[in-house]
Amino acid sequence: MRARILIIEDDSFSRDLVKFLLETAGYSVLVAEDGSVGMSMALESKPDLIICDLQMPVMSGYDVARGLAKQTDWRCVPLIAVTAFSMRGDREKALAAGFDEHISKPIAPEHFIAQIECYLPEALRAGRRLRH
Ligand code: MN
Repeated sequence: MRARILIIEDDSFSRDLVKFLLETAGYSVLVAEDGSVGMSMALESKPDLIICDLQMPVMSGYDVARGLAKQTDWRCVPLIAVTAFSMRGDREKALAAGFDEHISKPIAPEHFIAQIECYLPEALRAGRRLRH
């Protein structure tokens, strides 16, 4: 079974690019355009992995990460920040808020899938090879 991945991103260009890369790789994708909607979708849809921007209206990515961690019924899944915040200290700040990984924008389309797939269990990776 291939993973269902939730993208929380307010910028339509970034959102469409990440969605395109994931769908092309064979993943099932859900999208949210701000942090508040994204957090609700994370709780309701139970995705296998979440890709989240940090700078967003209504609710920032940091608040999404902290908010999910506080939910008693939240089943923890890999949470990956994809963000233009790439100054010294920004990675540490994202990890401290609860993110598992920090990827700087602009993303590298040729490496992006491999960068996020290492956070998925092997059975949920689209590119897995069947053993004979
Ligand atoms: Mn943004």
